[in-house]
Amino acid sequence: MIPPHEAHVLVRGHILHVVQTQTHTHAEDILDGGLLLNKSGGIIKRGSFHELLSQFPSLDVRDHSGSLLLPSFIDSHIHFPQLDMIGSCAEELLLWLENYTFPREAAFRGRNAFVEAAARTFVDELVKNGTTFAAVYSSSCGDATDVLFEEFDRRGIRGIIGKVSMDRHCPPAIEVGVKKDKSWTEGLIKKWHRKNDRLHYALTPRFAPSCTNELMEMIASVYREDASLYLQTHYAENQNEIKWVTDLFPEAKSYLDVYDSRGLLGPRTILGHSIHTNAMDEALLQDHGVIISHCPTSNLFLGSGLFAARRYLSQGQKVTLGTDVGAGTSFSQWQTMNEAYKVAQLRQERIAPSELFALATTAAAKHLGFDDLGLLDEGYSADYQVIDPASRPVLKRHFDIAKNAEERLAALIHFADDRSLKALYVKGQSVYQSTLHP
Ligand SMILES: [Zn+2]
Repeated sequence: MIPPHEAHVLVRGHILHVVQTQTHTHAEDILDGGLLLNKSGGIIKRGSFHELLSQFPSLDVRDHSGSLLLPSFIDSHIHFPQLDMIGSCAEELLLWLENYTFPREAAFRGRNAFVEAAARTFVDELVKNGTTFAAVYSSSCGDATDVLFEEFDRRGIRGIIGKVSMDRHCPPAIEVGVKKDKSWTEGLIKKWHRKNDRLHYALTPRFAPSCTNELMEMIASVYREDASLYLQTHYAENQNEIKWVTDLFPEAKSYLDVYDSRGLLGPRTILGHSIHTNAMDEALLQDHGVIISHCPTSNLFLGSGLFAARRYLSQGQKVTLGTDVGAGTSFSQWQTMNEAYKVAQLRQERIAPSELFALATTAAAKHLGFDDLGLLDEGYSADYQVIDPASRPVLKRHFDIAKNAEERLAALIHFADDRSLKALYVKGQSVYQSTLHP
């Protein structure tokens, strides 16, 4: 029995989430459901709205009847200073970095009105797309990264954020020497890492070609000292990149060995892409329990390759979903799931809607080490999004035809977007309210 003083608010809506066991992933829903929250925004009971109301008749009700309550999204790979670069056309990754990314990232320096406004817009885009938790590459500037942390903190959302480290093969404006990089990195960790339960630091070497041995060794030593830190970088995204790594590190057994031999791999390492791999490297990923971020819109936009999601999942690898804005073309995890589905189709493989949804919710939470996120159930934090299926006539039609939770998810994956989101909550607190749904 829950003592009445523990119950704080009762949230009403159509609850839909995805449950994973060792062997199965499936969508389940409660059409007229209720979530009983305590004062700290934890879910203390889930069930039928009317049953919960009869037990707690005097409780405040947050009434979203007719709308869906879903766990909010986790984006495991996105770049803050690439906010303005979506759709910048280049033949492939390395030319894209040289011609668009590096010049643009040079603008994200210092603490100034431009960086502050960009941080606001960046968080606006995350929340209006239902994302409350993102692993973010900032620019190489410590001050701009500080601004981004402040914005995440002020808006009440969750982040694993890091200043990009790079000390070669880039314009001088964004190159940061090892000494300066170390002092910025340590300063940011001290100020922000686990300042509260929403904010975390990720050491962020851009990718092997951007880093000297000395820089990678400095990063590895900081990583070794604190087991609660994350580390994020890119790996095996396209063939030209892999060839470049082979030329730069002739002694390495493979691209992944460059990171492994320097102590950069572990269960809190998030690797973007991991497309062009081999059995030896995949075994290494698994041995270290590395978290992989699959970024389909980016991989399609740059023509990088088709990620083998089915193979990775059947190996039991820790796969999550990232938008990878700005090579990625959308902030929306619905759109990202939609394209992950098509990438699998092009490989003649199948991924169910519930498996796709898990990559951005329950699986991502578990792999990143957050046992209280990703589900709307007892013992979980009330991080949830409210979606109106009537927000788009075409979504409503598909939604009404759908026969079960799995088909309802399929309709959302193909038709939900930022027009569909009514409201967004972290720990039961509002972090976004759409003006389209007053
Ligand atoms: Zn990236």
